[in-house]
Amino acid sequence: MAFLLGIDIGTSGTKALVCDLEGRVLATATAEHDIASPQPGWSEQDPQWWWEATVQATRKVVKKAKVKAGECKGIGLSGQMHGSVFLDDSPPESAAALRPALLWNDQRTVAQCAEIERIAGGRGKLIEMVGNPALTGFTAPKILWLRDHEPRLFEKTRHILLPKDYIRYRMTGQYATEVGDASGTLLLNVRERKWHTGLIRKLGIDPATLPECFESHIASGTVSRWAAKELGLSQGVPVVGGSGDQPAGAVGNGIVRRGIVSATLGTSGVVFAHADEPQYDPHGRVHTMCHAVAGKWCVFGCMLSAGGSLQWFRNHMAQDESARAKKLKVDPYELIVNQAQDAEPGCEGLLFLPYLTGERCPYPDPTARGGWIGLTARHTRAAMIRSVMEGVTFGMNDALRIMREMGVAIRTVRLSGGGARSGFWRQMQADIYGAPTTVTNAEEGPAYGVAILAGVGTGVWKDVPDACDAVIREIDRCEPQDAMSARYQRVYAEYQRLYPVLKETFPRLAALV
Ligand code: ADP
Repeated sequence: MAFLLGIDIGTSGTKALVCDLEGRVLATATAEHDIASPQPGWSEQDPQWWWEATVQATRKVVKKAKVKAGECKGIGLSGQMHGSVFLDDSPPESAAALRPALLWNDQRTVAQCAEIERIAGGRGKLIEMVGNPALTGFTAPKILWLRDHEPRLFEKTRHILLPKDYIRYRMTGQYATEVGDASGTLLLNVRERKWHTGLIRKLGIDPATLPECFESHIASGTVSRWAAKELGLSQGVPVVGGSGDQPAGAVGNGIVRRGIVSATLGTSGVVFAHADEPQYDPHGRVHTMCHAVAGKWCVFGCMLSAGGSLQWFRNHMAQDESARAKKLKVDPYELIVNQAQDAEPGCEGLLFLPYLTGERCPYPDPTARGGWIGLTARHTRAAMIRSVMEGVTFGMNDALRIMREMGVAIRTVRLSGGGARSGFWRQMQADIYGAPTTVTNAEEGPAYGVAILAGVGTGVWKDVPDACDAVIREIDRCEPQDAMSARYQRVYAEYQRLYPVLKETFPRLAALV
């Protein structure tokens, strides 16, 4: 049976997915990798680990799906964004990186970020050029860090690749990337969807070290004889651009048309919107990137402690529920969320700030702190739980509000992540977002998204929206309730006023640690 293969080079592991040409998922397989942190704030992986995991996961998934390796019609690659792989001119068979890759969550490049904003003529100018402010996780500051701290390796560097594009090189022998992942380098003119050669030169980076950049569905290379043998596939299978994990995950969830937005409530929370035009937040609170849909863009914001806030409550304040859940053989979150329903919407003035691990959107502030405000003797545990859920949802709503201000269309919000398992939280999200929320049948994320892109690139579907229409179905829908939305709006207005008031206090609290 002909099949499509999606491979996602994640941070904790690499996932391979096989689906048929109707988009039905036949199997998935994962191979894990470690993260190294040789110094505080550093986060690195040896790209060779990704290649080994790709080989392992691919062989496993083909076996599990019971498909013939020779019938693979196309491959799509997705991966953790922003990582930097530095290579010399070694051939793909022996392409070891010059040093471990610096990952998206590496924090060592504060000085280089300041330098980039200075060279660009200020933060606003940089946002105009490449769509985003300089953040420590992005690729460009990592390149400058190599120049500053490991100049001998910088001299030897002939090619700079993103994580999934390193895998592409090993698979196809081609140095290539695509617009989605390239948007996270800080070196792409996001509006024009091509490298910003002017900025690249100003930063002292040789443009020849960057790979050729394609649209995400384009099949730019094919599997080589050597790689086919390693992976257990056939030589000549087309490999499409794929995308960074954010745009790829959005394709996998059908966020590919104007008005469709996703809210993913996992440990962190991500709000992601499709945009027909490149729309920017002049303050850089949300990111604007090229979408994996040809000629379209996306805007997204990330809050750090979304589901993570409820997880903190479960771990430290819900021993009771956890013990009961064990006896009843149910998920402790079910019991915790059940209790929340005993409290009033708005929790009679009790608000929870979810900044338990600092915050990113809308407040890029590592010193931000969480907390309850408005506690009275009347408040119960139920109100404390409900206020955590409301506070997290208000935090997600901050990203939606910024997007609305930017003119991004928001018609429906597709929910995913652990928080979407609760019907109560799904309805609360609809009420607070003031938009219908839906859940789809697609749960496999970026690996599925790039399998879809592989189908588009090899002619299975006409284009990405057409493919998503064919394979993704809504399976649940909550309409916002007007009276409840109005009630939440009043509480949200108070929530919004808290951070500005406490902003000066947070760094002082942080200094007490
Ligand atoms: P990760 O981001 O780590 O992959 P998940 O997407 O699985 O995590 O989301 C985990 C979070 O989802 C938990 O921290 C919790 O806040 C929330 N969650 C998980 N199960 C439920 C549930 N049944 N009801 C409400 N929230 C839940």
